[in-house]
Amino acid sequence: MPKHIFTPEETARGAAKRTITDATRACVECGTEKPIGEFILTLARGRDVLRRCRLCRNRRNAERVRATGKYAETVAFYRTREGKKKALWSNARTRAKRYGLPFSLALADIAIPEHCPLLGIPLKMDNPTCSPDSPTVDCRIPSLGYVPGNIWVISFRANTIKSDASLAEMERLTANLRAALE
Ligand SMILES: [Zn+2]
Repeated sequence: MPKHIFTPEETARGAAKRTITDATRACVECGTEKPIGEFILTLARGRDVLRRCRLCRNRRNAERVRATGKYAETVAFYRTREGKKKALWSNARTRAKRYGLPFSLALADIAIPEHCPLLGIPLKMDNPTCSPDSPTVDCRIPSLGYVPGNIWVISFRANTIKSDASLAEMERLTANLRAALE
Protein backbone atom coordinates (compact mmCIF):
# COMPACT_ATOMS: atom_id res chain seq x y z
CA MET A 1 0.00 0.00 0.00
CA PRO A 2 1.90 3.08 -1.18
CA LYS A 3 1.63 6.32 0.73
CA HIS A 4 -0.97 8.67 -0.71
CA ILE A 5 0.60 10.89 -3.34
CA PHE A 6 -1.58 13.83 -4.25
CA THR A 7 -2.64 13.98 -7.87
CA PRO A 8 -1.85 17.26 -9.68
CA GLU A 9 -5.58 18.03 -9.59
CA GLU A 10 -5.81 17.55 -5.83
CA THR A 11 -2.63 19.55 -5.26
CA ALA A 12 -3.97 22.45 -7.31
CA ARG A 13 -7.26 22.35 -5.48
CA GLY A 14 -5.60 22.18 -2.06
CA ALA A 15 -3.17 24.98 -2.95
CA ALA A 16 -6.00 27.15 -4.23
CA LYS A 17 -7.93 26.59 -1.03
CA ARG A 18 -4.91 27.44 1.14
CA THR A 19 -3.76 30.50 -0.78
CA ILE A 20 -7.04 32.11 -1.87
CA THR A 21 -8.22 32.82 1.64
CA ASP A 22 -10.68 35.47 0.48
CA ALA A 23 -12.62 32.92 -1.58
CA THR A 24 -16.05 32.15 -0.16
CA ARG A 25 -18.82 29.66 -0.76
CA ALA A 26 -22.46 29.70 0.21
CA CYS A 27 -23.53 26.74 2.32
CA VAL A 28 -26.58 24.99 0.84
CA GLU A 29 -27.95 24.30 4.30
CA CYS A 30 -27.59 27.48 6.35
CA GLY A 31 -27.19 29.69 3.28
CA THR A 32 -24.32 31.59 4.91
CA GLU A 33 -21.49 32.84 2.73
CA LYS A 34 -18.36 31.51 4.44
CA PRO A 35 -14.59 31.46 3.81
CA ILE A 36 -13.62 28.43 1.73
CA GLY A 37 -11.65 27.08 4.71
CA GLU A 38 -14.97 26.38 6.43
CA PHE A 39 -15.72 23.73 3.81
CA ILE A 40 -14.18 20.29 3.31
CA LEU A 41 -12.27 19.54 0.11
CA THR A 42 -13.90 16.90 -2.05
CA LEU A 43 -12.85 14.75 -4.97
CA ALA A 44 -16.41 14.64 -6.29
CA ARG A 45 -16.53 15.51 -9.96
CA GLY A 46 -17.08 19.15 -10.83
CA ARG A 47 -16.84 20.33 -7.23
CA ASP A 48 -13.98 21.71 -5.16
CA VAL A 49 -15.50 21.61 -1.68
CA LEU A 50 -18.52 19.95 -0.10
CA ARG A 51 -21.79 21.85 -0.39
CA ARG A 52 -22.40 22.09 3.36
CA CYS A 53 -20.17 24.05 5.72
CA ARG A 54 -18.34 22.14 8.45
CA LEU A 55 -20.81 23.24 11.11
CA CYS A 56 -23.86 22.11 9.14
CA ARG A 57 -22.16 18.94 8.06
CA ASN A 58 -21.22 17.99 11.63
CA ARG A 59 -24.68 18.80 12.93
CA ARG A 60 -26.35 16.83 10.14
CA ASN A 61 -24.11 13.82 10.68
CA ALA A 62 -24.74 13.89 14.43
CA GLU A 63 -28.50 14.10 13.81
CA ARG A 64 -28.39 11.16 11.43
CA VAL A 65 -26.47 9.08 13.95
CA ARG A 66 -28.98 9.92 16.69
CA ALA A 67 -31.94 9.31 14.36
CA THR A 68 -30.88 5.82 13.41
CA GLY A 69 -29.15 4.89 16.65
CA LYS A 70 -26.93 2.75 14.49
CA TYR A 71 -23.56 4.27 15.22
CA ALA A 72 -22.44 1.66 17.76
CA GLU A 73 -23.84 -1.08 15.56
CA THR A 74 -21.90 0.19 12.52
CA VAL A 75 -18.66 0.51 14.48
CA ALA A 76 -19.12 -3.03 15.83
CA PHE A 77 -19.79 -4.38 12.34
CA TYR A 78 -16.60 -2.88 10.90
CA ARG A 79 -14.63 -4.66 13.62
CA THR A 80 -15.84 -8.10 12.51
CA ARG A 81 -14.25 -10.20 9.76
CA GLU A 82 -17.13 -9.45 7.38
CA GLY A 83 -17.05 -5.75 8.16
CA LYS A 84 -13.29 -5.61 7.76
CA LYS A 85 -13.62 -7.25 4.35
CA LYS A 86 -16.09 -4.61 3.28
CA ALA A 87 -13.86 -1.80 4.55
CA LEU A 88 -10.78 -3.24 2.82
CA TRP A 89 -12.74 -3.57 -0.42
CA SER A 90 -14.11 -0.05 -0.40
CA ASN A 91 -10.80 1.52 0.68
CA ALA A 92 -9.04 -0.35 -2.14
CA ARG A 93 -11.60 1.00 -4.60
CA THR A 94 -10.98 4.55 -3.35
CA ARG A 95 -7.20 4.15 -3.70
CA ALA A 96 -7.54 2.64 -7.19
CA LYS A 97 -9.60 5.64 -8.28
CA ARG A 98 -7.13 8.05 -6.70
CA TYR A 99 -4.05 6.51 -8.33
CA GLY A 100 -5.80 5.70 -11.62
CA LEU A 101 -5.18 1.98 -11.12
CA PRO A 102 -7.37 -0.85 -12.43
CA PHE A 103 -10.02 -2.11 -10.02
CA SER A 104 -12.15 -5.17 -10.63
CA LEU A 105 -12.41 -6.75 -7.20
CA ALA A 106 -15.57 -8.29 -5.85
CA LEU A 107 -16.10 -8.47 -2.11
CA ALA A 108 -15.48 -12.22 -2.35
CA ASP A 109 -11.98 -11.59 -3.73
CA ILE A 110 -10.90 -10.17 -0.36
CA ALA A 111 -9.76 -13.19 1.65
CA ILE A 112 -8.48 -12.36 5.12
CA PRO A 113 -6.18 -15.12 6.41
CA GLU A 114 -5.77 -15.92 10.11
CA HIS A 115 -2.10 -14.95 9.95
CA CYS A 116 -0.09 -12.44 7.93
CA PRO A 117 1.41 -14.46 5.06
CA LEU A 118 4.60 -12.39 5.21
CA LEU A 119 5.25 -12.02 8.96
CA GLY A 120 3.21 -14.89 10.39
CA ILE A 121 1.58 -12.71 13.05
CA PRO A 122 -2.14 -13.22 13.84
CA LEU A 123 -4.33 -10.64 12.09
CA LYS A 124 -6.70 -8.72 14.35
CA MET A 125 -10.09 -7.50 13.10
CA ASP A 126 -11.09 -5.31 16.04
CA ASN A 127 -8.29 -2.76 16.31
CA PRO A 128 -9.91 0.65 16.84
CA THR A 129 -7.36 2.20 14.47
CA CYS A 130 -5.03 0.74 11.85
CA SER A 131 -2.38 -1.14 13.87
CA PRO A 132 0.65 -3.27 12.95
CA ASP A 133 -1.51 -6.44 13.13
CA SER A 134 -4.44 -5.01 11.16
CA PRO A 135 -5.23 -6.65 7.81
CA THR A 136 -4.47 -4.53 4.71
CA VAL A 137 -4.82 -5.14 0.99
CA ASP A 138 -1.54 -5.27 -0.90
CA CYS A 139 -0.95 -5.40 -4.65
CA ARG A 140 1.69 -8.02 -5.46
CA ILE A 141 2.71 -6.00 -8.51
CA PRO A 142 1.66 -2.42 -7.70
CA SER A 143 1.23 -1.23 -11.31
CA LEU A 144 -1.27 -4.01 -12.10
CA GLY A 145 -3.68 -2.61 -9.55
CA TYR A 146 -6.55 -4.12 -7.65
CA VAL A 147 -7.50 -7.08 -9.79
CA PRO A 148 -8.18 -10.67 -8.69
CA GLY A 149 -4.92 -12.62 -8.51
CA ASN A 150 -2.79 -9.52 -7.93
CA ILE A 151 -3.98 -8.75 -4.40
CA TRP A 152 -3.58 -10.43 -1.08
CA VAL A 153 -4.25 -9.47 2.50
CA ILE A 154 -1.15 -8.90 4.65
CA SER A 155 -0.56 -7.16 7.98
CA PHE A 156 -0.22 -3.40 8.09
CA ARG A 157 3.27 -3.98 9.51
CA ALA A 158 4.32 -6.10 6.53
CA ASN A 159 2.72 -3.64 4.14
CA THR A 160 4.64 -0.76 5.73
CA ILE A 161 7.93 -2.62 5.42
CA LYS A 162 7.27 -3.84 1.89
CA SER A 163 5.62 -0.67 0.60
CA ASP A 164 6.05 -0.82 -3.17
CA ALA A 165 9.45 -2.57 -3.08
CA SER A 166 10.29 -5.24 -5.64
CA LEU A 167 11.57 -8.64 -4.56
CA ALA A 168 15.04 -7.74 -5.91
CA GLU A 169 15.10 -4.58 -3.80
CA MET A 170 13.95 -6.44 -0.69
CA GLU A 171 16.67 -9.05 -1.18
CA ARG A 172 19.38 -6.48 -1.73
CA LEU A 173 18.19 -4.58 1.32
CA THR A 174 18.16 -7.61 3.64
CA ALA A 175 21.51 -8.86 2.37
CA ASN A 176 23.15 -5.52 3.00
CA LEU A 177 21.40 -5.12 6.35
CA ARG A 178 22.59 -8.56 7.46
CA ALA A 179 26.15 -7.76 6.38
CA ALA A 180 26.05 -4.48 8.26
CA LEU A 181 24.70 -6.00 11.46
CA GLU A 182 26.83 -9.12 11.62
ZN1 LIG B 1 -23.94 25.80 6.80
